[in-house]
Amino acid sequence: MNVYDSARMSEILAPLGYAPGENPESADMVILNTCHIREKASEKVYSELGRLRNVKDRRAEEGRAPMVIAVAGCVAQAEGEEMLRRAPFVDIVLGPQAYHRLPEMVARAHRAGADGGVLNTDFPIDSKFDHLPDRQADHSVSAFLSIQEGCDKFCTFCVVPYTRGAEFSRPVAQILEEARQLVDGGVRELTLLGQNVNAYHGLDEAGGETGLGSLVGRLADIGGLARIRYTTSHPRDVDASLIDAHGNVDALMPFLHLPVQSGSDRILEAMNRGHDVARYMDIVNELRTARPDLALSCDFIVGFPGETETDFEATLDLVRAVGYSQAYSFKFSARPGTPAAGLPRQVPEDVKDARLARLRALLDEQQYDFNTTTVGRTLDVLLERPGRHPGQVVGRTPYNQAVHVTAEDFRVGSIANVAIESCKPRSLAGRVVGPGSAWLGEDPRRG
Ligand code: SF4
Repeated sequence: MNVYDSARMSEILAPLGYAPGENPESADMVILNTCHIREKASEKVYSELGRLRNVKDRRAEEGRAPMVIAVAGCVAQAEGEEMLRRAPFVDIVLGPQAYHRLPEMVARAHRAGADGGVLNTDFPIDSKFDHLPDRQADHSVSAFLSIQEGCDKFCTFCVVPYTRGAEFSRPVAQILEEARQLVDGGVRELTLLGQNVNAYHGLDEAGGETGLGSLVGRLADIGGLARIRYTTSHPRDVDASLIDAHGNVDALMPFLHLPVQSGSDRILEAMNRGHDVARYMDIVNELRTARPDLALSCDFIVGFPGETETDFEATLDLVRAVGYSQAYSFKFSARPGTPAAGLPRQVPEDVKDARLARLRALLDEQQYDFNTTTVGRTLDVLLERPGRHPGQVVGRTPYNQAVHVTAEDFRVGSIANVAIESCKPRSLAGRVVGPGSAWLGEDPRRG
C-alpha cells in the first residue's frame, strides 16, 4: 500500500513541478514514506533522517535552495509531534490519511517563518480519495489500486488499527474510474489493495453495499484488463460471493494470500483473530472446490507470547495440511501500544529463531515443490518487463510465480503461452510457444 500511496503523492505533486528524482543529493524535496509494521521502524526512520540532515546541511552550505524533508506514512502517524521535536530539521510530518493535503503543506513549509515544521496526522472526515488527481500512465503493466483502508479487527499484535484508522471502503464508481484510467494507460493487471481488502463494502451507484466478490465481477468487465488480484485478505471476511468469484471470474487469478498467522487455536484466540483452525481449513476447502488449482500464500508469526512447542507443531501441521505456494514468516516482535506487547510468557529469542528456521525450511520446500509441479506445463504469462539478457523477458504466471521467458519477439504487456522448462526455489524459466488465452494483441500504447 505504501507503493500505491507513494505513486499518488507523486501524482499530486506533479502540478507543482515535482517529478521523481534519482537520489536525495539532487532532490528539492525528499519524502520518506514509512511503514510501522516491523520492529524498530521508528529508529530506522530517525537514522535515515540523520543522513538526510547531512544532505540538507550540505545543500544549504553550497547556497542552493533549501531541501524540504517530509515524513509520511504510519511512523509519521504514530510519532506525530514527537518527530518534529526529535528531528526539528524535518519540514513536514503527515499521516497516511492526509497526503492529499501535501500541496498546501509544501506551500506552508516554504513560507518564511514556518515555525517548527508542518504537522498533519488527522483522520479527516472527508476521504483523501475524493481529492486525488487522475492516475498518470507510467508504463507499468501491473498496478496497485487501493479500494479499502484501515482495520477494525484489532489483532493483539498489530499496529494497523491505530495508524491507519477504522475500516473505510471507497465507492464502486470511484474504483471503476481509477481502474479505467490505469487500463487506458496500458495496465493489464490490477492488484486491489486494503489492510482488510475483503472487508470491502463500498457503495454502488444506487447506494447499495457491494462486497469484494461483486466488485471483482464489475472490474472484470473492463475491456483490456486481463488479470485481477487482491491483498491482504482476512479469513473472517471470505464470503460466498467472493468464493463464487474465484470459481466464475476468469480474470481473477488463481492465487490468494490468506494469512492465518498460527495453526494453534489457543494462539489464534490470544491473537484475537476471530476464527479457529477448523474455520480456516473450511474456507481453504471451499475456495479449492470453487477453483481447484488455487495457489495459496500466507503470513505466519512464530513465538507469539505463550506459544509452546505444541502450539508451534500445530502451525507446522497446518502448513502440511494446506500446502502453500509461497509464504511470509516472521518472529513475533512487540509493537509498542499493542495488547500483545504487555503479555506475560514472552518467548525467548533463541526459541523464536529456531522455530522460524524450522517453519521457513518447510515453507521453502513447499514453494519449490509447487514450482516443480509447473515444470512441463504451458502457462499464460503476463510479460512485464525486459530481462537482463537479450531475448529475455520477465513475467508472471497466473499463480504469481516470476518467470524468465526466452522470446524472439515479445511485446511487454501481452500475455503469452509459455512452456515452463525449469525452476529454481523462487522462479521459473521457459520459452514462448504462442499467444496466451488472454492475448491482447498489438497495443498501440506500447513500443
Ligand atoms: S486484521 Fe490485519 S490489519 Fe487488522 S489488526 Fe489484524 S493483522 Fe492488523
